[in-house]
Order: sequence, then structure tokens, then C-alpha cells
Amino acid sequence: MLALHAPIVGRPEVGTVVIQPTAFCNINCTYCYLPDRNNKHVLSQSTVVRLFSELFASGWTCPELTVIWHAGEPLVVPVGFYREAFETIERLRPQSVVVKHAFQTNGMLIDGEWCALFREWQVSVGVSIDGPQPLHDANRKTRSGAGTFDKTIAGIRCLRSEKVPFHVISVLSRDSLAMPEEMLAFYLSEGIDHICFNVEESEGAHVSSLFAGSELRQRYETFLRTFWHSARASGRVRFLREIDLAIARVFRPNDAPTRNIQTEPLAMLNVDSHGNVSSFSPELLGLRNADYANYLLGNINTDTLTQIYEACLRSLMFRDIQAGVEACRGTCEYFSVCGGGAPVNKLFENGSFTSTRTSFCTLTQMVPTDLILEAFDRLERSWMETNSPDAARPTADALAFGGGVIDSSVTQTSQKAGHTAVQPSRMP
Ligand code: SF4
Repeated sequence: MLALHAPIVGRPEVGTVVIQPTAFCNINCTYCYLPDRNNKHVLSQSTVVRLFSELFASGWTCPELTVIWHAGEPLVVPVGFYREAFETIERLRPQSVVVKHAFQTNGMLIDGEWCALFREWQVSVGVSIDGPQPLHDANRKTRSGAGTFDKTIAGIRCLRSEKVPFHVISVLSRDSLAMPEEMLAFYLSEGIDHICFNVEESEGAHVSSLFAGSELRQRYETFLRTFWHSARASGRVRFLREIDLAIARVFRPNDAPTRNIQTEPLAMLNVDSHGNVSSFSPELLGLRNADYANYLLGNINTDTLTQIYEACLRSLMFRDIQAGVEACRGTCEYFSVCGGGAPVNKLFENGSFTSTRTSFCTLTQMVPTDLILEAFDRLERSWMETNSPDAARPTADALAFGGGVIDSSVTQTSQKAGHTAVQPSRMP
């Protein structure tokens, strides 16, 4: 495959800001990596003012800036907090920049008031639900150990009745990987048509038992192939992130680079509830590591964005992440669709940012790419059997779900590469 990847240029291009309104979460999932989820401190409005004043004055923002309120449960903070923050950002926003807000939530607190905010500000809403009740409640629990399915599905039904668009992210477990048809039946029964999968990962203090299994790749490939083909046959799924975003990366003009914003300095600007700033994988925010200064680059309340960027370029973290990207570039045939992977997964699976292959990249990059190329080969073969040579050839669009208008926020938890146009010519 063509090893084409956007070079790092002299100034950052900030396309995504991940803001932690609070580290607190109202539940306690078994696979959660957030170390501070009992801390109820809330981001100050003055930090919002400072952050966006700096950011917009820098001229470093992409024309479309996605602001993701995450890294804790965002809905435990009152609606009024977001109304004030959104209005501040809108007041500071230059006309040349479009800001899109996005929430990733467990959905349990969604009600009519939240839906009004989502509609009014056209917020992209992602709800974490792991499938039917037994699968969901096995891992997504309250602090007392009770399941959370009933409240999450009530939140989803509220979104539907209030006509707020949303997508779901489901973390796949050992059990759900064996149940693609049951997972699909669940989504269809609840009117869920925008779907993203994560696989339980090793991050922070959490060590995934799933990743320890040797046959994980085969089981995930079987799951995704079955789910994809059944979902397309149903005609009722409009977006499957693992396929639709991968198609956009695999089929694109030969001279169009793909970005991996997890490896570019400040392409993702990640800010915790105290104003501490990190970059690269957003999951690094809040984790501790003496060698990497707890993955922090400064504090937006006391440092300028220029100082933070300079600290980033000087940091051992940046140097090691870049070494990992170069190692990937030199060894991996999937580099052109991946761009060097997710630093947080390299660190927690292999013990080093400088490493290459992970279980995570096998699942999020290699398996989808292989499945798409396999399906496209089949499409071309059947086209050749039934068409004259001068008939219009099939395009990769035929493999996509096609109805999915989705913003870049859905890429943040596992696949951060940006969108590129779908083109009929497969990359070499
Ligand atoms: S992270 Fe994995 S898939 Fe991506 S380039 Fe590196 S080895 Fe290849």
C-alpha cells in the first residue's frame, strides 16, 4: 500500500478539542480506565473563556472544530453549564471557524431538558450501550453493582421521541463477539441505525482479558463480517463506523494523505477539568507517568497556547510517539490507512510509544481493511461476470451504508483518522 501520510508542518492544526467538564462519572463500568471518576470538581467557566480566547487568537484551528465534552460523564454537570459555555465559545468564535459540539454519554440522565439543548445547538450525541440487557449489565454497572441498562435505554428512547439524532458506541466483550445477529436485532428493535463498536481495551489500570486471547482477530473478523453483511441486508442501518470510515480511508485519491490526529502535536487538544492540557490520545488525560510528566504539556489557565505547543514539541512523549509512527511507516503495510495507530494503545499493550503493532490496531485497522478489500474483490468479480467491459465499474460506495451523516466526533475513541472522499480506485 502507498505510504502516504500528512507530514508535520510548522504549526498545529487543531481539529478536535476534548474537554473534561468533570472527571466524575455516575457509574462504575468494569472496564473503565478513568482514574478520577470519583472526583466531582467541575471545570470553571473562566477556563472555557481562557481556552477558546487562546485557541481562536492562535489561528491554529481547522475550519471545522469539533468540541467533545467527555473524559467523565458530561451529563452530571447541569444543562446551564453548557448553555453558558456554548454561548461563550460562540461569542469568541471567528466567522471563519465552524464549531460543532459533541457529547459521549452513558445516556442515563437524558431527559427533555437535555434534548432541548442538543436540538438547539445541534449537538452530536453518542450513547454508550453494549447491546441487549444481559450484555450491557454485565459490565456497565452502578457503584453498588446494579445494571444500568434500564436507564440508558430510557435515555435512548427519549432521544428518539424528541427526534434528536444520535449514534451508539458498544464495547464488545467476549460474549457479544459471538452474537452479531443478536446485537443487530437489538439495534433494529430500538431504532438504532448509527453504530460504532469498540473492543474492550487495555488502557490505564484496566487490563483487557479479551486482548490476552490468541484467537481474538479471527473472532472479531467473523463478528464484523457477519454484522456488516446482515446490517446491509436489513436495509435499516445507516452508518457503521468500522466499515464506513475505513472505506473512506482505503479508497481515496492516490495523492490524498490521511491524517492521524492522535500522533500530530495539538491536532487533538485535550483539556481536563483543572485546565491541564495534553494531546495525542485523549485517554492519556488524567493518567500518571513520571517519565512523561503525567502526559501533561501545561495548563491553559497559566500558560499560553504557544508555550504549550513548544512544550509539546520538546517533550519526550512527542519524540517517542513520532518514533513509533516511523517504526510503523517502515514495517506495516497498513500504514497508509492507519498513519501509525493510537499511542495510548501502544503504551499500554506493548509498554512503549515507540512500538508498532497492537491488538487494538489489528482490530480497528487491519480487520476492517481486509474485510473491505475482500468485499470489493467479490464485487468486482461478480461485476466482471455479468457486465460488458465498457459498462460503468462498481465503486466502493456500493459497500458503504450510505445514509450516515456523521461528524468527526465518532472517530475519537478508537479511529481518529479524518474523512477523505470515497473514490472508485483502490489504493495500491
Ligand atoms: S498502528 Fe498497527 S496498523 Fe497502524 S501502522 Fe502501526 S502496526 Fe500498522
